[in-house]
Amino acid sequence: MEKVSILIVGKYAEIECNLDRFRDHFNVLKLSDLSDINKIDEPELKKVQAIAFKGHSTLNSNTLKKLPSLRLISNFGVGYETINVADAKAANVLVTYTPDVLSDDVADLALALLFGVSRHLLQGDDWIRSGSWREKGEMPLNKKISGSTCGIIGLGRIGFEIAKRLESFKIKIHYYSRSRKNVSQKWIYHKSPVNLAKVVDNLFVSLVGGEGTRGFVSSEVLDALGPRGILVNISRGSTINETALLEALEKKKIYGAGLDVFENEPNINARFLSLKNVFIQPHQGSCTRETRKAMGELQFQNILECLAGRKALTPIPEMN
Ligand code: NAP
Repeated sequence: MEKVSILIVGKYAEIECNLDRFRDHFNVLKLSDLSDINKIDEPELKKVQAIAFKGHSTLNSNTLKKLPSLRLISNFGVGYETINVADAKAANVLVTYTPDVLSDDVADLALALLFGVSRHLLQGDDWIRSGSWREKGEMPLNKKISGSTCGIIGLGRIGFEIAKRLESFKIKIHYYSRSRKNVSQKWIYHKSPVNLAKVVDNLFVSLVGGEGTRGFVSSEVLDALGPRGILVNISRGSTINETALLEALEKKKIYGAGLDVFENEPNINARFLSLKNVFIQPHQGSCTRETRKAMGELQFQNILECLAGRKALTPIPEMN
């Protein structure tokens, strides 16, 4: 019997995508980038029933109309804002994602970013390598985190994990979400992100990306955070008004920022590179071997279940 065709899109590390296993079950087509889709012959495309999707290219009706047999887009990752969900629904295509399995890693990195900024970790490393320790003695004093007050904008899966970790640093938790969550009574809810930013020392952003949250962290939020405040963003570059953030950093309206995500990755705004008050990372929140393996496993299982006519494990909420 002819195997069902699937299309694997994106650049995967070996541990993320077990090609041999995919090939045991399916006829596998591969693309590093969705924009190369026309390199695959039309009759082959017409047979594709599922896409294993990784990356941040736009997937909408332009692609879907080339794939009339498509039943599933199995996204590698929890953020799926570049997949046009309305188009997928209209084409009767299910979309799945890989929530939860990456939350620990992203939350871990969020704390690393906070400490990177507050304890001047890069400058400390440089203090040794440059010989300043020997020549000048102690490095300049920095900023205490334990016992402070921190705010979370978007208390979802990752936001919750960040808050749990912060608690172990004797930090008081405040949060903004669109509704109050059923969490510890000690965690203080705010209806407005500006009011939240006013009362906290440091602020984490763990919102979804996409148009609904574009520029959510505005210049008003940054002003409210103030010159002693650190902003950490592990969500998407789009959730922060990046022009306002750069200005706030350059004019020292906030203390600093720990950033894993940016607008226009990987060609980020060059103004970030000359700032001393940022600790920046190349969107590596979920980039551990263990977590990427787990994400690949969940992506695979979603395809296996769905194409066997069973319930997918983790459909995106809009599909429920
Ligand atoms: P989640 O559980 O769905 O949480 C998302 C949060 O966003 C929720 O608190 C939700 O608010 C809020 N939200 C959604 N739409 C909103 C809107 N229109 N206005 C205001 N708030 C809105 O997702 P998660 O698993 O924590 O992941 C969060 C995001 O992290 C992902 O979408 C992804 O972009 C990013 N991420 C980054 C990395 C990385 O490598 N840096 C890795 C994984 C994920 P409510 O609480 O009000 O419902």
